[in-house]
Amino acid sequence: MTEPDLFEVVNPATEEVITTVELAGLAETDAAVARARAAFDTWRRVAPADRARLLRAFAAAVDADREHLAALEVANAGHTIGNARWEAGNARDVIDYYAAAPERLFGRQIPVAGGVDITFQEPIGVVGVIVPWNFPMPIAAWALAPALAAGNTVIVKPAELTPLTALRLGELALSAGIPEGVLQILPGRGPVVGQSFVTHPDVRKVVFTGSTRVGKEIMAGCAAQVKPVTLELGGKSANIVFADADLAKAAATAPYAVFDNAGQDCCARSRILVEASVFEDFLALLEPAVRGVRVGDPADEKTEMGPLISAAHRARVASYVPDGAAVAFRGAAPEGPGFWYPPTVLAPVRHDDRAFTEEIFGPVVAVVPFRDEQDALRIANATEYGLSGSVWTRDVGRALRVARGVEAGNLSVNSHSSVRYTTPFGGFKQSGLGRELGPDALDAFTQTKNVFISTEE
Ligand code: NAD
Repeated sequence: MTEPDLFEVVNPATEEVITTVELAGLAETDAAVARARAAFDTWRRVAPADRARLLRAFAAAVDADREHLAALEVANAGHTIGNARWEAGNARDVIDYYAAAPERLFGRQIPVAGGVDITFQEPIGVVGVIVPWNFPMPIAAWALAPALAAGNTVIVKPAELTPLTALRLGELALSAGIPEGVLQILPGRGPVVGQSFVTHPDVRKVVFTGSTRVGKEIMAGCAAQVKPVTLELGGKSANIVFADADLAKAAATAPYAVFDNAGQDCCARSRILVEASVFEDFLALLEPAVRGVRVGDPADEKTEMGPLISAAHRARVASYVPDGAAVAFRGAAPEGPGFWYPPTVLAPVRHDDRAFTEEIFGPVVAVVPFRDEQDALRIANATEYGLSGSVWTRDVGRALRVARGVEAGNLSVNSHSSVRYTTPFGGFKQSGLGRELGPDALDAFTQTKNVFISTEE
C-alpha cells in the first residue's frame, strides 16, 4: 500500500488550513477513466429530452447551493464574496444554457446523387478537463456543461490549491440525478492526473486552462494519439485609451479591469496604453481610482480585492516589482497573515521590461504612452499573447478599426467585459486554441459523422 497523497487546502486570506484533500494517483485515475468509459455507453443513449432535464436539474441544484458554493470559494481562493456569488451564478447559467443543447444538436441533410446524405454530431467519449486555481467554478463549468450536453462523460481535475467548489459541483450533479460516472471530480497533481488525461487512450479529448508553458506540453502530448485539445492559456492584454475617450470613466474602470480577482485573471488588462496627449491627465485620474480599491477580507461585502492565492505566487508577482522599480503609485494592502499584495502601477516602463512583456497574474499594471492609432496597435500586438483587450474612444469608426486590429479573441469597446456565457471566448496566438461558451462550444465536444443512404432500387 502506498501512503495517501494528502494535500492541505489553505485559506489565502488567513493562511489557515481549511481541510485536507486526498489527491488521486495513477491507479485512481485509471479507475475513474474506466468508470467514465463505461458510463459513456449509457449516457450518450439517454434520450435528448431526458439529458436536458437532468442538466436543468443540475443547474437548479447549483442555484439552490449558490451561497454555499460562494462561501467555499471565498475561503478556498480568497475571492471577494461579490465575485464568488457571480461565479456560482455563472456556473448555474452555463449549465442551464447548455441544457438546451441535447435537443438542438442538429445534423444536416446534404443534396447528393443516388440517395440521402445526413450528418450526425456524435459525442467524442471521455473528456478530461484540467482547471487552474484562478476561477475554479466558471472554468470547470464552461467545459463540463457543453461536454455533458453533447453526450460525453467528463472527469474534472481541479487545481491542487482549489479543489473545494469543483468537488461540491460533483456532489450537486449526483444529487440532481446525473448518473454515477458521468461527471467525476478527481483532485490530483498536474503531472499525475492531468498528464494521465493526455496519455490515457480512453480519454478522447482534453480541455486545458492554465499557463502557456503547460498548455504547450499538453498539446504536444496529445499529438501522439491525435487527441483533440481545447487550450485556454495566458494573456497580456492591452487597455487602449484614446484622447477623445471619456477619460474619467476610462480611468475609474481601469483598476478593476486588471486588479479584479487580485489580477489573477487571464483577461486582465495589464498594459494600459494611453494616447500621449492625455497621458499625464489619465495618470492623474488613475491615481485616486487605484488608491480607492478596497483591499481586504474577501468575506466583507465591501471588499473589492482579496489576497493572492499562495505565498509562492506572491513571491513571483513581487519579482516583477524589484527594489527601485518605477512604481508611479500603489494602493493599500492589509498587514499580517494572508498573501496580500497592493494594487501597483508602474510608469514609466520600457517596452522590453519583463513587467511589460510577461504575464504577471497579479495586481500590477504598466502604463505607457502611444502616438497614434498605428502606434497603439503596434504596441498592443507586440506580444505572443492574444486573449482580450479594451478600446476607449468616442469615435465609432476608430473603435471598430482598432478592435479589429488587435490580435486577440475578446475585445470590448468602452467597457472591460470579456465574458458572457452566450458569446464565444478564447485566445489568438499563444493564448489558446478553440473557443468556449456561446452557441458554437458544442463543436469542441462533438465530431461530425456523415451517413449516405442509397435510394437506388
Ligand atoms: P498551470 O498551468 O500551472 O496549472 C493549470 C492546471 O494544469 C492545474 O490543474 C495543474 O495541476 C495542471 N498541470 C500542471 N502541470 C501539468 C502537466 N504537466 N500535465 C497536465 N496538467 C498539468 O496554471 P495555473 O498557475 O494554475 O493558472 C494560471 C494560468 O492559467 C495563467 O497563465 C492564466 O493566464 C491561465 N488561465 C487562462 C485562462 C483562459 O481562459 N485563457 C483562464 C484562466 C487562467
